[in-house]
Amino acid sequence: MKDHGSTVTTSAGETPAAASLPDTVRAAVSLPDSTTTVQTIDPEGATSAAGWLKVESSALCGTDLDLYQHGLAHPTVMGHHVIGEIVSLSPVMQWSWDVAVGDRVALEEYLPCGLPTCDACSKPDIYRFCPDADLWGGQRRVGMLGTHEGSGLHGGNAEYMELSTQTVLHKLPRDLDSNLAAWTQPFANAVDWVINIGGATSGSRVAIIGPGYHGIAAVAAARAAGADEIVVLGRNSRTSRDRLEIAQAMGASIVVNDDAASTSLALGRHGKATGFDVIVDTVGLGGPALQATEHLRKLGRLVLAGLGDTPVTEVNLKTLVRGASGVVGVRGRSPQALTRSIELLAAHDTGLEHVPSIDVGLDGVDELFRTLLDRSGPSSPHVVIRPSL
Ligand SMILES: [Zn+2]
Ligand SMILES: [Zn+2]
Repeated sequence: MKDHGSTVTTSAGETPAAASLPDTVRAAVSLPDSTTTVQTIDPEGATSAAGWLKVESSALCGTDLDLYQHGLAHPTVMGHHVIGEIVSLSPVMQWSWDVAVGDRVALEEYLPCGLPTCDACSKPDIYRFCPDADLWGGQRRVGMLGTHEGSGLHGGNAEYMELSTQTVLHKLPRDLDSNLAAWTQPFANAVDWVINIGGATSGSRVAIIGPGYHGIAAVAAARAAGADEIVVLGRNSRTSRDRLEIAQAMGASIVVNDDAASTSLALGRHGKATGFDVIVDTVGLGGPALQATEHLRKLGRLVLAGLGDTPVTEVNLKTLVRGASGVVGVRGRSPQALTRSIELLAAHDTGLEHVPSIDVGLDGVDELFRTLLDRSGPSSPHVVIRPSL
């Protein structure tokens, strides 16, 4: 299979074709004490590499901040929303991935086992649930493997990264704007959550809780679906207000709401008589999000994309049953959503061009993490590490 995320289990013993690697590779290595240093790494340690990628961009998301803040298990080259150009490739992976040296690709973060005995990997579109690739399980993921494995270059925060036989990748158009290309993976998540799972379509009314990285991507997905109205709820902090302004520039109506418990009331005020077709909680409000089901239209869907720890106090089952409403948790995205994400980005109709891009070189990664965690950093959610800077 080509663009469906399949992996092969044969050895990648062949020498990757057209190797054009430098003797040393600069990489931002993040340490268990939540600091990052730039190191030069010898790529020769990659004895089982299936290929090499020259990294164009590595976009930062909330998972990176969580991992960094809570302490990495090993020194790690992080970065899991990676775009780049293939600079070398083993013949078997050239065939398996249907790509060639010089192709521009987007990587998925999952490194699924690919074994026929694995329930998730034996189906074409749910390999992201492979226990090996689980964020709370095997953690075999791009940007999570330690520097002690192979070359150590397994994340996007480096000039080059090693590709393995487990790598899942998708071809990108060569002329796709670099800022838009860096949205490929989070926008694919939003396409799955808002359109494929939430069911948003032309004329839909969509509410999005949280104007963060995935909230903004969800606005773009709702736009791409042809939604009639998009309402975004955010808090009254500097970062949130700036992000709400971005959502507004993309065509959304915005609501400032600092009280999670009043989320349902806030949505009620903006849901008009008919309510919403889709409500997406990107922050994990927990109970308050579930109460928002009161403001779903018939057959509407509440999509839970965040992990909240607020206890669920009250859910109106009558509303859920009478409205034939759906409540669904989501994780990552299907490979089909990634393909659709690339098509929509190439069509230039997502509104994501309104989101300022914060571009940072490898030397700026340590400060970037520090300022994002102490909330003094940039407020745009589109933060992109570009090793060439
Ligand atoms: Zn991510
Ligand atoms: Zn598997």
